[in-house]
Amino acid sequence: MATDLRLPTDRIVRPDKDRFLNEENPFEAMMSRFDKAADLLDLEPGLYKVLRHPEKTITISVPVLLDNGEVEVYTGHRVLYNTSRGPAKGGIRFDMNVSLDEVKALAAWMTWKCAVVNLPFGGSKGGVVCDPLKMSVGELERLTRRYTAGIIATLGPDSDVPAPDVNTNERVMAWVMDTYSMHVRHTVTAVVTGKPVEMGGSLGRREATGRGCMIVTKEALAHLGMNVRGTTVAVQGFGNVGSVASQLLHREGCKIVAISDRTGAVHNANGIDVEDAVAYVKERRSLDGYAKGERITNEEMLTLDVDVLLPAALENVITTKNAGKIRAKIICEGANGPTTAAADTVLEEKGIFVIPDILANAGGVTVSYFEWVQDRGGYFWTEDTVNDRLRDIMTRSFKDVLDLARQHKVNMRTAAYMLSISRVATVHRLRGIYA
Ligand code: GLU
Repeated sequence: MATDLRLPTDRIVRPDKDRFLNEENPFEAMMSRFDKAADLLDLEPGLYKVLRHPEKTITISVPVLLDNGEVEVYTGHRVLYNTSRGPAKGGIRFDMNVSLDEVKALAAWMTWKCAVVNLPFGGSKGGVVCDPLKMSVGELERLTRRYTAGIIATLGPDSDVPAPDVNTNERVMAWVMDTYSMHVRHTVTAVVTGKPVEMGGSLGRREATGRGCMIVTKEALAHLGMNVRGTTVAVQGFGNVGSVASQLLHREGCKIVAISDRTGAVHNANGIDVEDAVAYVKERRSLDGYAKGERITNEEMLTLDVDVLLPAALENVITTKNAGKIRAKIICEGANGPTTAAADTVLEEKGIFVIPDILANAGGVTVSYFEWVQDRGGYFWTEDTVNDRLRDIMTRSFKDVLDLARQHKVNMRTAAYMLSISRVATVHRLRGIYA
């Protein structure tokens, strides 16, 4: 029988549902979805309390010698939210908007995400408050190495395994791997994923998040009885996730009618030439000046009359301010936390089918898992094998969430939380509380 964590005097102290919530605080956004799913699962109070807290929160100062000879001190965080199912897994982001609350939310989302697709991982996230676009390669390398050294006590293939996230890439992961390896005095490829293929990275990892978005979007179209061919798509964010998702959906026959990045959006009702836009961004680093379509604002793009809206940048893009105006039939959340909790209700009332972030963008961490497995086995797979196994996991997970949504008559987001929380809860019950 599973361990009963119930204590006789235990009371759940829930935040007052009517209290003023800061709509844009990502941790509150995560928690309100968690609370809803926990209620529906009738989660016992002890476990409820355990799962509302991160296991470990690390905040460090990261001094960096700048190219001009001055020293700047950055703040870095790493949060291990939950490791009951396996090593903590989650990216590192470099961004001015990084805060401890954001990193905590992102680490919790990684926990639920890994559980939704049933990977043997817990969840973590890291971030450094900095503007990488204003830093030289040398400064970024020094920042990465000092940050890695600062969190090294918890890093390791069996304890916490970083990966790329906003504004970090393969090169940054190579520095993380090298710094860790220098400290432990032997090469450890499995300490980080999203590495260059030449040094233990996996084929297909770079495209994995966008590929996963494409796969679940096709599943949603099939579920709603819509044709893939001719489906119109607007993609918000044209980084690694948005650009690859655009390319792959285009190859499947969808028409990408709008794309955007921080410099603005481009709309072309006849379809954007995606390969051309990708080549443009590769050369100029942004869509600024891209003229093969009508320039519109990012806000206008979100409310275009399209079949699919794919937010693939940062949090808090769909809020109560614009949710009522969204006309898409499907929202595929390529980003983490693009929709605020308050906006969920508006989208549901409008009957929009939302593929929630913890399912929609799980392709990245799924291939990270493949990379970790390949590194530990020292045996590498072909790209076809990676992509086939990714498709199997994404389609099976979509179906698992959809089945649960039907069974409990809830939306896909609530079902995804229910599935993942129940998987994490089961392991906690089996393991018990170590006293
Ligand atoms: N940063 C990605 C995410 O948010 C990937 C994480 C990973 O591969 O560990 O899912």
